[in-house]
Amino acid sequence: MAEAKFCTACGCDLQAGMRFCPQCGQVVAGSDADEEMKQRMAEIDDVLREGRMNWIFFAIALYAIPATIAGLFALVDSGATASTLWSNADFQNWISTHGYDITLKDVETYVAVAAGLALASGACAMVSMFLVFKRKMWSIAVIACLLASALCFWSVFGLFIGLLMTWMLYASKESFD
Ligand SMILES: [Zn+2]
Repeated sequence: MAEAKFCTACGCDLQAGMRFCPQCGQVVAGSDADEEMKQRMAEIDDVLREGRMNWIFFAIALYAIPATIAGLFALVDSGATASTLWSNADFQNWISTHGYDITLKDVETYVAVAAGLALASGACAMVSMFLVFKRKMWSIAVIACLLASALCFWSVFGLFIGLLMTWMLYASKESFD
């Protein structure tokens, strides 16, 4: 390996085999010390990357699992949920004060659609979560995360967090196999 003749930091003369500059302490490029440092930096980089992927996995899981379960239950139980909402005095009050022409059927439809959206969004997030866990097919993971966010359009907060997660996933694409 070619030895640097001058220090890259201070420009002082270097002897062959020197690992550090005697003048300023700079690591000599191409020396054992330089290789060792590059190795360490790569190791630290790997650890940081792993940490970021784990963080993304847990953040997606935190949304995917409850959204899927809640969506599923709400969809199965949409008739009962709608009836409960319908018989709520505050809800009836809200309809009459605004003069809305809402029927129980409308409420049932609304609950079913909301539950379906939550379930679809949660399922997409589950796909993304699984791929992040497996470190496989980053593009599908990103698209699934984007879909999960898009299906959360009724919540500005959810949409924002989802798009942020999608961006983080995209930025971590080199961590996938
Ligand atoms: Zn130097």
